[in-house]
Amino acid sequence: MSEALNVSAIFAEDVFTDTVMKERLPKKVYEELRKTIDEGAQLDSVVADVVANAMKDWAIEKGATHYTHWFQPLTGVTAEKHDSFISAPKENGKVLMEFSGKELIKGESDASSFPSGGLRATFEARGYTVWDCTSPAFVKRDAVGAILCIPTAFCSYTGEALDKKTPLLRSMEAINTQALRILRLFGNTTSKKVIPSVGAEQEYFLVDRAKYLKRKDLIFTGRTLFGAMPPKGQELDDHYFGGIRERIGAYMKDLNEELWKLGVSAKTQHNEAAPAQHELAPIYAQANIAVDHNQITMETMKKVASRHGMVCLLHEKPFKGVNGSGKHDNWSLTTDDGINMLNPGKTPHDNKMFLLVLTAIMKAVDTHADLLRESAANPGNDHRLGANEAPPAIISMFLGDQITDVVDQLINTGDATSSIKAGRLKTGVSTLPALRKDATDRNRTSPFAFTGNKFEFRMVGSSDSVASPNVVLNTIVAEAFCDIADELEKAENFDEAVHNMIKKLAIEHERIIFNGDGYAEEWVVEAERRGLPNFKTMVDAIPALTTEKSITLFEKFGVFTKAELESRAEVQYEAYSKAINIEARAMYDIATKQIIPAVIKATTQLSNSINAVKMACPEADTEVQTDLLKETSNLLVETKTALAKLVEVTEEASKKQIGKEQAEYFNTHVKVAMDNLRTPVDKLEMIVDKDLWPMPSYGDLIFEV
Ligand code: ADP
Ligand code: MG
Repeated sequence: MSEALNVSAIFAEDVFTDTVMKERLPKKVYEELRKTIDEGAQLDSVVADVVANAMKDWAIEKGATHYTHWFQPLTGVTAEKHDSFISAPKENGKVLMEFSGKELIKGESDASSFPSGGLRATFEARGYTVWDCTSPAFVKRDAVGAILCIPTAFCSYTGEALDKKTPLLRSMEAINTQALRILRLFGNTTSKKVIPSVGAEQEYFLVDRAKYLKRKDLIFTGRTLFGAMPPKGQELDDHYFGGIRERIGAYMKDLNEELWKLGVSAKTQHNEAAPAQHELAPIYAQANIAVDHNQITMETMKKVASRHGMVCLLHEKPFKGVNGSGKHDNWSLTTDDGINMLNPGKTPHDNKMFLLVLTAIMKAVDTHADLLRESAANPGNDHRLGANEAPPAIISMFLGDQITDVVDQLINTGDATSSIKAGRLKTGVSTLPALRKDATDRNRTSPFAFTGNKFEFRMVGSSDSVASPNVVLNTIVAEAFCDIADELEKAENFDEAVHNMIKKLAIEHERIIFNGDGYAEEWVVEAERRGLPNFKTMVDAIPALTTEKSITLFEKFGVFTKAELESRAEVQYEAYSKAINIEARAMYDIATKQIIPAVIKATTQLSNSINAVKMACPEADTEVQTDLLKETSNLLVETKTALAKLVEVTEEASKKQIGKEQAEYFNTHVKVAMDNLRTPVDKLEMIVDKDLWPMPSYGDLIFEV
């Protein structure tokens, strides 16, 4: 048996937590720093020096040799450049370990190698990383040793955001300001701050490393580009919540331990719907910390997998025909004194603040459905959304029976007078305890579902940062709150004005509510009738970033400038083109160097065996072998033709203007050519001798981990 683990002893042991700061900083310095963290006060340079020194001493005790400004450029993953603490050697040849306040607060980074979408011409390569003191520093351990990681924002010389964190922090300030106005309207004078809380559930696949290394498609693109379905898929539903196998269990144990040390509150773990698919959910945290923690989680998942002889796949669709992976973004608004603004209470119908917040969110989501959709767009997610396993690409809201009933009453009678009560669970077994049920069942098919006291945005892809969805959520809800507060602050009779406002918003935005089956074909038709947008692919979704509506929204709340939005759209188009280009080239490479030679070998063997049989026994019937040879040869021709076409369109794509034009071409032409190449190859996999097939099959990959 494994040794017992003292979780509370190791939790956050590698984090420069509030407790550590309190212990190690002079009282005055600690208080100054808290003021910056809690109230956004300017940080004094003397204070910064003291903090830096304490942080360094602490990190060195933890074994750290280097520090890094840890940031989140628009690549979607994190970036770091390590600097050791050593100073220039003294005359006696000794070095000191140094770290100044200036080094803590500001880093300079040659930013020209990160995507900027034209925001920063390459000759102005200066980029700055700036300490985000609201997210704690931590010591990360891996093969390079222990590194002090300082969470930072990343900006250009002229202050434009080049990362995912800066707009997130800006959007958190926006929602704080506007949500406080709503609280004050309801007579709250005590809450000082409203913070978006986020819990990101992370899905992932684990495959055996030795098999992974035989799949060039997984290595280059993170997903399989070829692969026939195994005889068994996930139709038996026997994997979801199934018993966790030893090898996976050992992995999860290690993963939890690593995450806990880094202060990530990994909470739940289970097997997901597909074979070899799993999920981890943390306890929710304030948005920017949750985003950092999700990045740490993804990184740690990969690292720990390699120690266990496995590879963690975070791609949205590693296997065609098998469930893909997403990331549910749970979101709510919490005050510094513990009020959840999305808590309906026992009788939501007479909870006016909740109803106002709810209808404000309806307005926000309905008005900016296109932006929410865009925030979940990445090339991998195009394979998931609308494919009967993930919510469709159409944004709608699910409220559940109880809240829907309240909203219906408001719309139909102008007043809500009752709330459906939660019943008792009847199991028919007297020895089982009588439980209270939730007032509402779940709906797994909705992209934006109210789940008790939070919304769950389920569209996000598993490999994506959760920063963008939360930037959008915070800002669109800030706008709705602002519009509402502008009116209500002027009202003479507040109670009446609130009542009318809630009713008006519910009626105006009723079309965004959908409680039915989001996977059904009819919903697509119905949504179109309602005028809800349906952007099927990432390329269709990107223009939402730069509409007048979007620019007005983000500029008003200081989250993005027009230039920043345009640059982000540019980065998205380029990211898309690059991803598809790599996939197309990987397909070409694999088909040419591995698949076609294997199939030729198979046909040669077949014809040799036909000849051998004929020689040994001229009257023997070789129809089976001949048919197989014919079928294989025909598919080989089909493969070769499709391959030539893929080469042609990929070549053509490279001549298109980089940006929208090129991305559109990849989306409409190259993807089709890829599908057309895959079809005959997957058929070939089913008929060619397994020993000749040049790579592990789906069955090998997902059932034999
Ligand atoms: P499920 O999605 O299966 O219903 P849970 O409700 O337990 O699972 O929560 C899923 C995620 O939502 C967890 O990361 C959890 O911490 C987070 N969460 C729970 N309450 C809130 C909240 N008020 N705000 C934001 N996230 C929350
Ligand atoms: Mg969930």
